[in-house]
Amino acid sequence: MDYNKIHINPISPEPTTGSVLVIYTGGTLGMVYETKGKQLVPFNFQQIIEKVPEISRLDFDITFLSLPEPIDSSNMSPAIWIELAGIIEAHYDEYDSFVILHGTDTMAYTASALSYLLENLNKPVILTGAQLPIGVARSDARENVITALELAAAKNQDGHPIITEVCIYFNSSLLRGNRSKKKESSDFNAFHSENYPPLANAGVRIEYNLPYIKPYEPGLKLKVHKSLDTQVAFLKMFPGISQVVVESILGIKGLKGIVLETYGAGNATTEPWFLNAISNAIEQDIVIFNVSQCDGGRVSQGQYQTSKFLRQIGVISGSDITAEAAITKMMFVFACNQPSQNCVEMLGRPLRGEMSI
Ligand code: ASP
Repeated sequence: MDYNKIHINPISPEPTTGSVLVIYTGGTLGMVYETKGKQLVPFNFQQIIEKVPEISRLDFDITFLSLPEPIDSSNMSPAIWIELAGIIEAHYDEYDSFVILHGTDTMAYTASALSYLLENLNKPVILTGAQLPIGVARSDARENVITALELAAAKNQDGHPIITEVCIYFNSSLLRGNRSKKKESSDFNAFHSENYPPLANAGVRIEYNLPYIKPYEPGLKLKVHKSLDTQVAFLKMFPGISQVVVESILGIKGLKGIVLETYGAGNATTEPWFLNAISNAIEQDIVIFNVSQCDGGRVSQGQYQTSKFLRQIGVISGSDITAEAAITKMMFVFACNQPSQNCVEMLGRPLRGEMSI
């Protein structure tokens, strides 16, 4: 595949301190208003320095690479996640770090999916975007892009990257990607991570929360996974959910697993028809992964009678995983072509720091 590439040389004659590959996928960040009209159109990356002149003052090499057709992230897909993982694999030895410019709507899904696809990652992969297009005076794009670049280029005293995982940087906070959620559609503070602390806060200085950051491991060899299985679905509980809805979802041909979005600490109705439907599905090797509808806290099956039954019939607890990290984890785990028992085991334990045990 041919990608558009632009290389930006730092202004300073000093030797550069590293290299970052920026991968542009689309989203609001990359939009500008047409000269005359009021229409937002995708930004031509040849103009990046004109829009964000500060970039050339950074003291590391930056290469911009654009997907052939930038998209609104509502059109993001597992095929593009695999493509992104492939781009990182192909350039892994050439660059010290990676920044992905992405629409905010599905950024948490992409960050989660990439965290599973990029096993043994030992370099930063930082996703960022913006709530306002880069061409708008009050846009948050400039700060988000510049700080994401600085975070990606940051090294510790030994010259190793400080960040070695897939993260989201937005509005002064660096979050673990598979712990993040889009919580605001209009506020600049768009992402949060209720169950895991920020990895860094960018104020006047960048303060790293080192105990929570996966450390650099010498000799780690990147392994990139190239498949995801989409035979998965969400089933969200609500008072009044009908038998026909539950049975229809569980009866989908080829379905391998569902993320069951339960109430509070993992509770669901104890109506016999519901428990029978779930238990029949499990008997047919459909995996049920219990994730709370609450953003904060965790599933604790057995704390209430309304979740004890779920545990007894073999529902897997998702602990404090987000729905985004849960559905992408299922896609990843089912693509590993493991017997159902191994899938259950993989879902129940953290693979990339996405859940607490
Ligand atoms: N719809 C846009 C997208 O996700 C929103 C954004 O970028 O903020 O691509």
